[in-house]
Amino acid sequence: MSSLQPFHRPLGNTGLSVSPLGLGTVKFGRNQGVKYPTGFELPTDRQARDLLSLARDLGINLLDTAPAYGISEQRLGGLLQGQRPEWVICTKVGEEFADGASHFDFSAAHTRHSVERSLRRLKTDYIDLVLVHSDGNDMDVLDQEVYPTLAELKQQGLIRAFGFSGKTIEGGIRALDGGDCAMVTYNLQQQQERPVLDHALSHNKGILIKKALASGHICLQGDDPMFASLQLIYSHPAVASAIIGTINPGHLRENVATALRVLHR
Ligand code: NAP
Repeated sequence: MSSLQPFHRPLGNTGLSVSPLGLGTVKFGRNQGVKYPTGFELPTDRQARDLLSLARDLGINLLDTAPAYGISEQRLGGLLQGQRPEWVICTKVGEEFADGASHFDFSAAHTRHSVERSLRRLKTDYIDLVLVHSDGNDMDVLDQEVYPTLAELKQQGLIRAFGFSGKTIEGGIRALDGGDCAMVTYNLQQQQERPVLDHALSHNKGILIKKALASGHICLQGDDPMFASLQLIYSHPAVASAIIGTINPGHLRENVATALRVLHR
């Protein structure tokens, strides 16, 4: 089986090495209030376990989760027992999803509570990367206590790196200056945040791409939308990894095969 292992690359200056494709796990844990083209059932434990095992065999070492992704963190915690060192786990703070609605809390107390809860849910004593799950008001969020609190948690060794998943250029740049990494929307339909990628490149900071397929909508159009998407994303040298969400093993194989086609060119 062809593997992404030879293409693992540094995530900025975090010391973490990540596969160029990461696995997004929204669909492992939540099927309400999401923007995918079609509805879906959450995978069974067996299906989720098989998917993680396939991802690992294909050379994927990066998993992205969040407290706002329903039961995603708890599921990963159970399924990854005994494999912790093999994975780079990214989770988030700031957004909570309950009773069909999101709410946000960027206070120091909530940030600390959220990270400690993620450690318990993920059944681990460290988290590789914690990102702020912004509500879109990036500069306001960065004025709150969340970033200094994450810096303290990093100093204490509970997290290895921290950063920001935002929606604006100015927020992304400020977040890179004060942290290690930004998660940025960058796809065939939306490239407005490209200056954040440029800033990361010139300052050796990490970039993860979210919504690489515009939450799946790009797959509905064009000739080879996955190839075109990954070609765009990997053509920017700041990008460490594209986090693509899937619960379909066929899609996972296809996405890795396409990534290898793009990376081999
Ligand atoms: P995405 O990765 O752009 O697209 C995922 C959708 O594309 C899924 O519905 C998936 O369906 C479909 N898909 C994947 N591979 C495919 C293929 N080869 N052919 C056809 N369809 C395919 O969207 P996303 O889940 O919104 O974003 C990815 C990840 O980024 C998330 O899981 C999450 O980890 C992260 N994210 C973070 C934030 C934030 O921090 N604010 C926001 C959004 C996303 P199947 O399951 O059927 O494959």
